[in-house]
Amino acid sequence: MESNEEIRRLVNAIALKNASEHSGSTNVNTVLSRILSLKPELKNELKTLIEEIRIIVDSVNKLDLEQQKKYINEIYSVNINIDSKSRHENIDSHTLPELQLTGTEVVTRFPPEPNGYPHIGHAKAVVIDEEYARMYNGKLILRFDDTNPMNEKLEYYEVIKSDLEWLGVKPDIIKNTSDDILMLHEYGKNLTRNGDAYICTCGIDNIHKFRMEQIECPCRRNIDNSESNLERLDKIFGGAYHQNEAIIRFKGNMQDKNTVMRDPTLFRIIEVPHPLLGDKIQLWPTYDFAAPVEDSLDGVSHALRTKEYELRNFLYQSILDKLHLRKPIVVEFSRLEFDNMPVSKRKIKQLLEDGLISGWDDPRLLTLSAMRRRGFDPKAIRKFVLSLGLTLAETKPPFKALESMNRKIIDPHAIRLFFVKDPIKLIVDDGKNIKVTLSNHPTNDLGKREVEVSTVFYISRDDAMLLAEEEEVRLMELYNIKIKNIDLENKRVITASYFNNDIVREMKKIQWVSDKSVTKYSILVPKDLYLNDKFNPNSLEIVEGYAESSVLQLKSRIPIQFIRFGFCISEEKKSAIFIHR
Ligand code: ATP
Ligand code: MG
Repeated sequence: MESNEEIRRLVNAIALKNASEHSGSTNVNTVLSRILSLKPELKNELKTLIEEIRIIVDSVNKLDLEQQKKYINEIYSVNINIDSKSRHENIDSHTLPELQLTGTEVVTRFPPEPNGYPHIGHAKAVVIDEEYARMYNGKLILRFDDTNPMNEKLEYYEVIKSDLEWLGVKPDIIKNTSDDILMLHEYGKNLTRNGDAYICTCGIDNIHKFRMEQIECPCRRNIDNSESNLERLDKIFGGAYHQNEAIIRFKGNMQDKNTVMRDPTLFRIIEVPHPLLGDKIQLWPTYDFAAPVEDSLDGVSHALRTKEYELRNFLYQSILDKLHLRKPIVVEFSRLEFDNMPVSKRKIKQLLEDGLISGWDDPRLLTLSAMRRRGFDPKAIRKFVLSLGLTLAETKPPFKALESMNRKIIDPHAIRLFFVKDPIKLIVDDGKNIKVTLSNHPTNDLGKREVEVSTVFYISRDDAMLLAEEEEVRLMELYNIKIKNIDLENKRVITASYFNNDIVREMKKIQWVSDKSVTKYSILVPKDLYLNDKFNPNSLEIVEGYAESSVLQLKSRIPIQFIRFGFCISEEKKSAIFIHR
């Protein structure tokens, strides 16, 4: 922690800068929020801080604008970074409310099931988990909740790990629920021996029926059974039953309005090999049982879960009560969803099965691997999910917000090039054979390129349609021409002549590609996967056109801004994926 003197200097700098930007006057609130976004730890001494700020703000407001500016110049030579950029980078964690602390270390966990590729919804969950762990100098556990071998694959454990790494998430501990399977079995046995759980052999249909009718089944009442629950317990652990023949159920309350509490399943038999344990284990705990026990044993202080588990929270607590295990604090947040884009492994799997998408990294998807392929920067994803905060309201945030965060990040290093969609020939009949040097970026030094031009150019059909004879237009970064003749029907050609080279603000500017340095190029443009809740067959457009041939020299995965078309990422020599406008 900095000394008070340093804090005072920083407050002074912020106050001066803000005042100088607002006709010489600033106020306590603005300065307070800026200093807190830079130094969140100061929240602990808010009272003294506000006092300090008040004194400094008063003295700054007494200065005139000139004096303020003079002081700022002096301060800036000591290089205190208070501009808007650094504020933004620090703003992230402040969208999260404080946790209720219990005196123990803050430990959070992200518990994915390795049954598919992680998506942006998982990113939201894990980034919140990680952010809290960091905020309180605690720990983040990545725990694979792998207790349903029916759906789980080794591949998915690996993908989840590497996608989280790409996202910049660094778990302090990585483990699997299946590591603890014998311990989970023991807790299951204890629960049954204590009479808080029982073996049920009624079969799926009856169980469902009794649940709806709020009737306790014969197994629970332990009547009509030739064997006791304890005998059955030995049998189920001894492998005497097959899949669907018996389950272990929690003794809840069949009268409960919350159907989750009507004797939910704790263990079931799954006769499919587990990706890590093979067929050694066939009695697997459900998420309802494994999650609370694991959270408790792992030392999780705050279990963050999406709101859809709301009805299961009471069960979570009841199981821990019966087992006399420590109870973590459950914190809920809303599931991230978007209009017309599936954020659920189940829906994505369905699309894959139906052959409607090319893979988990199909650029229309919001899986992390698709987003990486499509050129999203992981920093933009983090920033976006944190900007949503910890609301409980079912939010469907605008995807555009994420795009704009990404644009800010990639813009400084995306090289500018020309691409024309659906090309139309443009002949400038008195055009000269010349070489022009164009900058790869308007403000940053990303190099230059030389482009040879002659009399023949290509422009996009969209632009061509809007031209009129006698109109003067500028070929961007080249010169102005005057349109003579437009024949889009027969010859698909426009003729023009050189006009002049004056920069005229209002003049229409269009991008072009020279016949001397041109290549065919295609851009994959992903769109919404669903239209009115149905798969959108036009969700992947392939835009064909011509690009400057210098695009061929680019390696793959380079961000490009095709001027007036949008940001793209090169995939292969002659193709790219559209990221956003
Ligand atoms: P899906 O429906 O995609 O299969 P899931 O919840 O079954 O999701 P898990 O692997 O069990 O997937 O999820 C791990 C964690 O990620 C859970 O804590 C879950 O709450 C969270 N999570 C999953 N999807 C979202 C989402 N769309 N928004 C926020 N959090 C999510
Ligand atoms: Mg799940």
